Amino acid sequence: MSNDADRPIAPAGRLVPARCSRRCWLVSAAAAWTVRAAARDDEQPVIVRQPVPGGQIELQFTPGFGDAQRERAREWVVRSADAVAAYFGRFPVPQLELLLQGVDGEGVIGGATFGEPTLYMRVRLGRDTGAAQYRDDWVLAHEMVHLAVPQVPRAQRWLHEGIATYVGPLARARAGLLDARQAWRGWARQMPLGQPAADDHGLDHTPTWDRAYWGGALFCLLADVRMRQHGSIDRGLQQALQGVLQAGGDYRVAWPVSRTLAVADAAVGGTTLVDLYDRMKDRASVIDLDALWRELGVDDEQLRDDAPLAAVRREILA
Ligand SMILES: [Zn+2]
Repeated sequence: MSNDADRPIAPAGRLVPARCSRRCWLVSAAAAWTVRAAARDDEQPVIVRQPVPGGQIELQFTPGFGDAQRERAREWVVRSADAVAAYFGRFPVPQLELLLQGVDGEGVIGGATFGEPTLYMRVRLGRDTGAAQYRDDWVLAHEMVHLAVPQVPRAQRWLHEGIATYVGPLARARAGLLDARQAWRGWARQMPLGQPAADDHGLDHTPTWDRAYWGGALFCLLADVRMRQHGSIDRGLQQALQGVLQAGGDYRVAWPVSRTLAVADAAVGGTTLVDLYDRMKDRASVIDLDALWRELGVDDEQLRDDAPLAAVRREILA
């Protein structure tokens, strides 16, 4: 079963609603330490040090995993890390502690990422999760994408969630873990969630779940299309975000959003992100999505190569 472009809403067959924690990048340092302290001396986690492209992940399994269960989970971590590393050019950070909190049953339940006091990620999952379920999981890639963006002020959490929501399925699809056509059709169905509602005052002032995840993802899609449409077709959001990472902008640092967007713009030339942010930050800016899908050649039946922006669509995800 596909996750249809990784909408952060529970696909059928999961234990509980699977979504990135709404607080996934804002949880306090104290909360992170509380989780770690919960592993008592007689319940030490099993540690596996896993090299990934450009870094290392310290996998911490809570007690109760069997050898085969641990190996399936390790393979899933490697696959997710490879997909994210391929998008950004390397794994976003040199070192990550990843706590895998096992529970009875199947399915990846949810994840959370903490920037302090050290870089730390926690994912809850059923110990009996099968290979196919791991393959369909969006949670871990989503959390790993968060690592590639500087922390931002609370008003711009939508940017962080938007990037993770948009890039997660792109990275997975490019790695062959998600079908490209399903990814586009999933976006066509889900991006409308990110449109402003009647009482909306712009992305910076409307901290709802839909606007944070899908409003942010829509911002990313628009930016990606415009960069490739008006600049060089092979330089889009991916290259812009790689520029941020190369400038030291990963989750271990906190930047004002103006700096993150300016560094990203500079990496591809132009001012696409800064301009789009100006337009969408404090105004209810409704996007003509039907027109956008038509131009990109995304319809219910197929991806159309005779559409005016079909080449842009293929550059984003073919
Ligand atoms: Zn998230």
